[in-house]
Amino acid sequence: MVQQQGMVRVRFAPSPTGHLHLGGLRAVIFNWLYARHLNGKFLLRIEDTDRVRSKQEYVDSILGALAWVKVDYDEDLVIQSERIGEHTKVINELLFQGKAYPCFCGQQEPDETQEDEPEVGYKKYNGKCRNIKPTSEDLKKPHAIRFKVPESVTQITFDDLIRGPITFDSDQLDDFIIARSDGTPMYNFVVVIDDAFMRITHVIRGEEHISNTPKQILLYQACGYPLPSFAHLPLILGPDGKKLSKRDAATAVLDYKKMGYLPDALFNYMVRLGWAHGDQEVFTRQELIEYFSLDAVGKKGAIFDMVKLEWLNGLYMRQTSDQEIMQRIVQDVEPKFKELTVPWNEKELFALIALYKERAKTLRELAQDCIQLRNGPATFSPQELQQWITPTTGQHLALFLQKLDAVDTFTVETISGLIKTFCKELNIKLVNLAQPIRIALTGTSASPSVFELLVLLGKNESKHRLEQLLKVITA
Ligand code: GLU
Repeated sequence: MVQQQGMVRVRFAPSPTGHLHLGGLRAVIFNWLYARHLNGKFLLRIEDTDRVRSKQEYVDSILGALAWVKVDYDEDLVIQSERIGEHTKVINELLFQGKAYPCFCGQQEPDETQEDEPEVGYKKYNGKCRNIKPTSEDLKKPHAIRFKVPESVTQITFDDLIRGPITFDSDQLDDFIIARSDGTPMYNFVVVIDDAFMRITHVIRGEEHISNTPKQILLYQACGYPLPSFAHLPLILGPDGKKLSKRDAATAVLDYKKMGYLPDALFNYMVRLGWAHGDQEVFTRQELIEYFSLDAVGKKGAIFDMVKLEWLNGLYMRQTSDQEIMQRIVQDVEPKFKELTVPWNEKELFALIALYKERAKTLRELAQDCIQLRNGPATFSPQELQQWITPTTGQHLALFLQKLDAVDTFTVETISGLIKTFCKELNIKLVNLAQPIRIALTGTSASPSVFELLVLLGKNESKHRLEQLLKVITA
């Protein structure tokens, strides 16, 4: 069998029957990196032959998700439904050559691309129509087209680039349907015709497609097309070791945008699901392009770990400029961010972002922290009060309020100087004053530096919040 040769050409071929999910994203990333690493081409094909379930809205959403993670594709987008004439031509040729036949049994084949519709209940075809000679009258009746699996085939083996040789016995196959009775071609057929048309050299996709591969190989052979290499990626698993589901984590890529993840962080995280380069965790895109190879892709399913993704996202946030963070918050997470943080101006917001991004794990958390700081504490947690408020705290805060009143210019230097000297005078540890101040300003003792918070809130607001806490503890 002739192998597809020449420059590497890979593709991602989503069915627009839903949004791009994490499994799809990982397939995209591995294909894209493979192409970029080898200076090949990464192509995109929309597999919309399922006219009922395909929606333009999903095409747009998939393209939007790819743009968000900054994955570009080469050459023109191929739309499968626009190639229907080509598909029909090949079906007619196969019929003419006796490699396919009309079937009047009315048994429908489930669409293999729909992972949520496993082939349960599917009965192997008994071959009833395989050898009948239909008349032109018969051909007017509804009929599907089946591929005639050649009798000479006893086994089909392919050398998966990740899993090594995989063999299927022919008795695992039947004469599968390549076109439904309404004339629309089936996935296993069109994928071959289109991959050959696009001169795809490597088919890299999820392992749920392994069982489709022998059928596709038979079609390559029947059509006389050169065969691509195949690589099937391991599943992404939930914490219970089963296939990742919506119960475990959001599965749509664009949900991560709304949840406040940075595209580079998600990209970096997804690459490590199944691929490794020593024990390096953080990579620039350039490094990934340089290091990526299919040899380092594991066979075992990879567990999706939300905590690790959050950690990586936090790391990327700290490396991102405050301007970009603000822009992404407004665009992706909280369009009213600026309104909700009035009276702070841009400069003050940047200062706040710089302060909170040191600890936040997502843009959403960061935005919420800022908005919450703006609104002030609604209540004080009893546990926090119990931990940090001592019998002398009230007195200390009252004295501190007087000191604050005397300060004219609120800068980090003046405020930190004031607080440190004050603690020395009282002979108390900084933490014993700083924590009650934090609680007064934010409602909780887990917050960024009190000096910066006091400066950002300004004299009046800071005093007001300190007085509120004072009221609670002296009550
Ligand atoms: N349209 C198929 C899917 O979304 C593509 C399968 C393939 O890559 O061959 O699963």
